[in-house]
Amino acid sequence: MSGLGKLRVAVIGAGAAGLCAARHLLSRRNTFATPVVYELTKNIGGTWVYEERVGCYDNGLPIHNSMYRDLRTNIPKEVMSFPDFTFAKHLPSFVHHTEVRKYLEQYCDHFRLWDHIQFGTSVASVTPVDVKGGWNGLAWDVTSNDGVDHSKSTTERFDAVMVCNGHFYDPYIPAIPGLEKFKGMLMHSHDYRSAEPLAGKSVVLLGAGLSGLDIAMELSNVDAQVILSHGQRPLTCHLPPGVQQAPPVTSVLDDGTLEFKNGERAKPEVFLFCTGYNFTFPFLDKKVGVKVREHLVWPLYKFLIPPAYPSLFIVGICRAICPFPHFHIQSQFVLSVLDGSFRLPSREEMEKDIELDIAARRGRGIAARHILKLDSEQWAYNDELAHLGGFKPLPRYWSNLYESNKVFRARDLLNYKTYNYTVLDNMEWKVHDLHGQQLQKPLAVKKQM
Ligand code: FAD
Repeated sequence: MSGLGKLRVAVIGAGAAGLCAARHLLSRRNTFATPVVYELTKNIGGTWVYEERVGCYDNGLPIHNSMYRDLRTNIPKEVMSFPDFTFAKHLPSFVHHTEVRKYLEQYCDHFRLWDHIQFGTSVASVTPVDVKGGWNGLAWDVTSNDGVDHSKSTTERFDAVMVCNGHFYDPYIPAIPGLEKFKGMLMHSHDYRSAEPLAGKSVVLLGAGLSGLDIAMELSNVDAQVILSHGQRPLTCHLPPGVQQAPPVTSVLDDGTLEFKNGERAKPEVFLFCTGYNFTFPFLDKKVGVKVREHLVWPLYKFLIPPAYPSLFIVGICRAICPFPHFHIQSQFVLSVLDGSFRLPSREEMEKDIELDIAARRGRGIAARHILKLDSEQWAYNDELAHLGGFKPLPRYWSNLYESNKVFRARDLLNYKTYNYTVLDNMEWKVHDLHGQQLQKPLAVKKQM
């Protein structure tokens, strides 16, 4: 504890998650000292700060950013926002990434976060120390580097640490036998900025997640011939001209030809991986015991807390979620743990809870690598945290509107970003297409209210 008996919390990263953590810590001045937010770059916003360069920053550290030039959001602003701070009214529902950056800057203005962020400071190590009288008998030494060449090192002690370092910057490339024999241009979506360099080329694009689909559409606009190779059920919606589907690539032959799971072959000029990212926590002391295996980060109680070190919080590792509201809920839950309004179970009970939760998910046929994909289960997760922590859940329209957008996207991939949503009250919303025609809400979305 700090001298005044307030808890000192370090936040690693000033992306959306770190800003949200700081906003909530600052709203509870009686319990929490002003937080220290460490930010590697010179900007807030993380993912939403477009960076033209690929490779490394001037200081030699790898570029964190995976944003591409023309990206517009895939979640309407009405549910993408933090629940306590809306996007500007005049904006359409699906905004360009520059508007999200502006929005996060306005969030910083509104909640007066700027003064608490240490820019150009990278956290190099986070080490637990036993401290009598500390929160749960613990404290954390956070060592960070700053200065022009990051050579100046400082260590500060905190009662708790919220890790918000983002998870979209260390490209994951699946092991494909013979990949080294591919003779064309090999790239990951992390390094994709715009379609023009690939204009007119033949491309095999591996992965049909949101980025894969978005990039396939961008490539179609510059007359690339795209084979969208993926392991999901074949997409049934209209795809743009020049885009066809294929099963996953299983190997690369001696002459550099790609072979697909159905035995068909292609020899593209470009092999583009839209295969996602690895989790990395390079600063975390090994003895904390947080492991990453097959895209699963564990053991973490409620996907947040290592049972042996319950004053460490890894925020925002769940996937297929609505990120900003998710951070809003997780941050408040963390505060409820730290201020004692939610009393954590014992270490053994938390470990048992994690074991049972993973076993239940595996029992439902979910592979280890997909356990963190909450998808529609995110709403029950959010509600549970709000209930345990004793704070306000998300407004009731949130889940229904978000899930409906998913249905519209699956039906109308080419146009869903032209729709505009209006929230009517805590329960209801409506949606219009580009021509102002009101659309029926999808029946398929279970009313989650
Ligand atoms: P980040 O935004 O990655 O921020 C992490 C911050 O931590 C960075 O500023 C980084 O510099 C800093 N950092 C990392 N390591 C250290 C260290 N050691 N020391 C100090 N600082 C450190 N979400 C949506 O809601 N809607 C969308 O439409 C959408 N589209 C997306 C499109 C793309 C291409 C990508 C990659 C993601 C998209 N997302 C979208 C998800 C998006 O990542 C989240 O919305 C959110 O921005 C993640 O925030 P974050 O704070 O967890 O991570």
